Amino acid sequence: MKTAFISHPDTLLHVMDGNHPESPARISAIKQAVMASALQNQLLYADAPMADKTALLRVHRAEYVDYIFDIAPKAGLVRLDVDTAMGPMSLAATLHATGAVIHATDLVMKGSVDNAFCCIRPPGHHAGRANSAGFCIFNHVAAGVAYALEQYPLTRAAIIDFDVHHGDGTEDIIKDNPNVLFCSTFQHPFYPYKGTESTSNHLLNIPLAAKSDGATFRHLFETIYKPALDDFKPEIIFISAGFDAHINDPLADLALTKDDYIWMTAFIKKIAKKYANNRIISSLEGGYHLPSLAESALAHIQTLTN
Ligand SMILES: [Zn+2]
Repeated sequence: MKTAFISHPDTLLHVMDGNHPESPARISAIKQAVMASALQNQLLYADAPMADKTALLRVHRAEYVDYIFDIAPKAGLVRLDVDTAMGPMSLAATLHATGAVIHATDLVMKGSVDNAFCCIRPPGHHAGRANSAGFCIFNHVAAGVAYALEQYPLTRAAIIDFDVHHGDGTEDIIKDNPNVLFCSTFQHPFYPYKGTESTSNHLLNIPLAAKSDGATFRHLFETIYKPALDDFKPEIIFISAGFDAHINDPLADLALTKDDYIWMTAFIKKIAKKYANNRIISSLEGGYHLPSLAESALAHIQTLTN
């Protein structure tokens, strides 16, 4: 498989409070792991362009997009919500992050690569139609899905969100769109305390008790996601790739390991091979234990290239 690795230097320049866990070091840790591995020479590297307002307006309300552009500071920090702040480079970083997923969609749809990993921040899956939340400003994966369905002759996109937190922003954006199958596993009860009451035939929310491990994930993927994906037959698959369900993650309490990320990636690849001409676009969400984040993301990318 040919895999693209898409990032941008500006993703390192979005800095919130001094010790914020969603830090530039997360991107550096993944890049260093890739550069030190045999993958280094196998990936197609691309710089993420900035998303334009058209890309944002497919998934966000115009007033919210304007609000973010207006509030972005020239100096200092402005707080958007209890968990999310913007500094002078945050707008550029989040626009490059959305742009990465859009560019990945083009590379995959045009056949330049089979799949892609977007090594970007801030993450996106908590950003709803008209709100920031949980370190997220704009929703990159939702924007990529909307772009793919509008620009290409596709009618069915799946999103698999294995971040430890429920992708509530993504659900807010796609909940009335039957062309999108949203599969989200998350620790519950836990931030953002949503997702347990909203299961439908295209919203497959799976709340998991603290301490749930890889065996539980694999069983649920096989018994709930597989039949639903076989029924839906996605023509393209997006992954909200959070690595904060790792057993070492300091923010959460699930118990995945590197091998579980390899297994889940291979599972998604099998579905993509069957229905989606191998098309997978994966975008970084959470993951806050730097060595485990780097190791898990590397294993995920390695599995995408196999
Ligand atoms: Zn998360």
